[in-house]
Amino acid sequence: MPVIEEVLRTHDFVELENEFGAHNYHPLDVVIERAGGVWVYDVDSKRYLDCLAAYSAVNQGHCHPKILKTLAEQANKVTLTSRAFRNDQLPLLCKELHELTGFDMTLPMNTGAEAVETAVKTARKWGYKVKGIPDGKAEIIVCANNFHGRTISIISFSTDEQYRDGFGPFTPGFKIIPFGDAQALRAAITPNTCAFLVEPIQGEAGIIIPSKGFLKEAAEICHANHVLLMTDEIQSGLGRTGKLFAYMHEGITPDVLIVGKALAGGFYPVSAVLSSKEILGVYKPGDHGSTFGGNPLGCAVARTALRVLVEERMVERSAELGAYFLDKLQTLRSPDLKEVRGKGLWIGIELHSPARPYCEALKQEGILCKETHDHVIRVAPPLVIKREEIDWAFERIKRVIEKH
Ligand SMILES: *Cc1c(COP(=O)(O)O)cnc(C)c1O
Repeated sequence: MPVIEEVLRTHDFVELENEFGAHNYHPLDVVIERAGGVWVYDVDSKRYLDCLAAYSAVNQGHCHPKILKTLAEQANKVTLTSRAFRNDQLPLLCKELHELTGFDMTLPMNTGAEAVETAVKTARKWGYKVKGIPDGKAEIIVCANNFHGRTISIISFSTDEQYRDGFGPFTPGFKIIPFGDAQALRAAITPNTCAFLVEPIQGEAGIIIPSKGFLKEAAEICHANHVLLMTDEIQSGLGRTGKLFAYMHEGITPDVLIVGKALAGGFYPVSAVLSSKEILGVYKPGDHGSTFGGNPLGCAVARTALRVLVEERMVERSAELGAYFLDKLQTLRSPDLKEVRGKGLWIGIELHSPARPYCEALKQEGILCKETHDHVIRVAPPLVIKREEIDWAFERIKRVIEKH
């Protein structure tokens, strides 16, 4: 009997997902089938410019050929050993991260939330074992409107009611201060404070850039009080803001650096906590771990993802082309437009009305953007975008913003 291949279209996939998948997202109804560089193609072969880059996980561009080659080659050799044994990729990734960033050591994990959890555990253990905080009393200071992931402990210090609603009881030990307020940080520190956890620029909150000098002052306050400064660069890092890491704009070095997303170029979940020997030295065998963390497939992919970021000057591109794009977007005129701001290829277009209808209209024009926190359109294409593609996008964004 001949097999009749049913051709599924956009609405079929939408219906299937709505029927059989949990509704914990509200995606645009574009069903992506393949992608390359800055472009993605839906199941009807319609082409879109990706201006989200998977929340900055594909900074290197979709399906980067060199990373793809590494993925295939490593998958043919060995994918997973667990940390019960060693593999020949993890040591090289740790060494290369050290050479790239200057941090002594790496603790590898998988998702961003896991890396943040790891940073929180690291800070607490350091607080008890090194700083001498009484058992069970360690405090970590965080900022309002933060986004650090979705685990119970992390949402315990979220200020977004929806992220918390129905998920209690929560993990204690966190203090919330306004973002960008060095005075509030100073006031919140007690002898039991082990760390200050902060995004240098708040991504999910709507590309919120603190006033110049905030991070530098925070670093000084932390240093003076023997408190660890932990920067979550899962979204802001690896070139997104026009520097390798956003903290570099302020000429400081955090005590703990959290990376994820673009660390493996969108091919694989790889995250990590980077720090000094003193701080990561608090871990003894058995204290913490992950079956997949540090696996050879992820490590090989991450090594190539970092290599292409450097070799193809993606960080420099982000600085140059980000400034070019921001200049253009700042010429937009509309009574609904509140502000256009950004750093590198990370731009927020803030509106007075909800951003969702704009994102729907942009989709019609062939540009994929996602609203963040209702009123902001985030423009964050892969860092391999070309000047002509920015011009192409700008014409369409202008049409949508100014005609709306
Ligand atoms: C995405 C993100 C996370 C969480 O990463 P997941 O891989 O989704 O768990 C944490 N912090 C920041 C700043 C992020 O942007």
